[in-house]
Amino acid sequence: MIQRICEDIPDDLLGIIIGFSQNGTVVSCSEDGLRELGYVQEDEFTISQLMPVFKEKSMQEIQASLKTEGEYIAYRKNQTSFFVKVLLKQCHYGNAEYLCRLIPWQEHKRLEKEVEQTNRKLKEALQAKNEMISNTTHELRTPLNGIKGQIDYLMMQTEMTEEQDKTLQIVMQCCANMQQIINDILDFSKMEAGKIKLERLQFSLKNVMNYVVDTNIKQANAKGIQLNVHISEEIPEQLYGDGLRLGQILNNLISNGVKFTSFGSVRVEVNKVASSGNRIELLFMVIDTGIGISPENQTKLFKSFSQVDGSITRKYGGTGLGLAISKELVSMMDGFIHLESEVGRGSTFAFTAVLHTDDKPETEVVQKQKYDFTKLLFTKYKENSGAVYVWNSPENKLELKQDLEKLVLSIEILNWNRVEIFAQKIKELMQGAEQEILKQLIKMEMAIRREDHDRSLLEYEQLVKILKDKDSV
Ligand code: ADP
Repeated sequence: MIQRICEDIPDDLLGIIIGFSQNGTVVSCSEDGLRELGYVQEDEFTISQLMPVFKEKSMQEIQASLKTEGEYIAYRKNQTSFFVKVLLKQCHYGNAEYLCRLIPWQEHKRLEKEVEQTNRKLKEALQAKNEMISNTTHELRTPLNGIKGQIDYLMMQTEMTEEQDKTLQIVMQCCANMQQIINDILDFSKMEAGKIKLERLQFSLKNVMNYVVDTNIKQANAKGIQLNVHISEEIPEQLYGDGLRLGQILNNLISNGVKFTSFGSVRVEVNKVASSGNRIELLFMVIDTGIGISPENQTKLFKSFSQVDGSITRKYGGTGLGLAISKELVSMMDGFIHLESEVGRGSTFAFTAVLHTDDKPETEVVQKQKYDFTKLLFTKYKENSGAVYVWNSPENKLELKQDLEKLVLSIEILNWNRVEIFAQKIKELMQGAEQEILKQLIKMEMAIRREDHDRSLLEYEQLVKILKDKDSV
């Protein structure tokens, strides 16, 4: 008696589903399949009647010999035949030991063609959409620049009342907002099409920062919040990379910080995480004391067109593209972006980026000085003593262990100055550590900078756990 294949296999699953016993007898079959083959439940038949090519072969041998792209002939009860693609899997299903799916070949080919066509249509549609976006954004830019130029002219040439001047300032701000939206949409569509390429040009980090601060200072002043920047002295003044795109990421994070903060400050810190050869990895943190983001909303961020809730959008405006673009740009700079936030207390957006100290191709440096490169990556010259510390060496492990103990003690007694000192030492000892460890270190650093006792402890414990798992302490 052939069992019906259970309801848990969807009816619309393509092809005939058959269950075989170990010796190749059909023990179950989908209802449509049975009908297609011309059998009834009371019948008895085997795999060699169904597909004579497998005669005298065990199920195991059949499974081993099946060609995924192969075409086989299956026979109905009335001996008419049809071409099929065969998928066979050993699995216990009811009283079956093997489950088999026969897909009529024509149907299979038709489907393959359909998928191909759908993919092609999708690609064409995406291309058409991107072209349309690029054309319309270009068309929008021209009149917008015209409006801005005319207003500038009006403001310079005409005597105006205070009221009129205020109105024009608002119009100018609206134009700037609109320009930002146009740029975001254009960037996003370019990103989707994989058309954004990063430059490697010389730039001054200070100049980039000054530019971003200049762009946001007016709004910060108007809201009465402070905007401070601190760049670590360890970072060379001149760097190589895409300064414009770096500025774009920073501008997005800082303008969000200013936008979503009503009291307090937006602080930007730039530190060196590691350097090797001509590569230098920097950590940027944008710390605000604004409205914060709830844990469930944090998961929605970094996705395109995502804003955490409608009321915020209505109050603050924006497209929800800035963070998605920033995330993509950060990953193009071999970095990662991370958010720590608490509702009502503020947010810290941190990201790393790999830049360069000269314009020589990286591979050349790596190949030419392979030994030096690894040595540089995994060693740290201890200040004063001149001793060399190698990541994961016994000396490094010992020192790390001691500094971690001092750090946790300082957190416990809320001595944040000491905490900062030990965190800095630990960071130095961790040069050359795995990404997972560095990522966790950054999380702990962020909690420390916010002087958040509970969070610092939590991140500390997580860091120690990872270090132990990797046998690095
Ligand atoms: P938008 O152009 O809308 O600002 P973003 O991608 O830059 O787009 O930000 C998406 C959403 O993330 C914002 O609408 C806001 O809800 C939230 N957000 C971003 N930065 C902050 C911040 N510093 N503080 C609070 N919420 C923020």
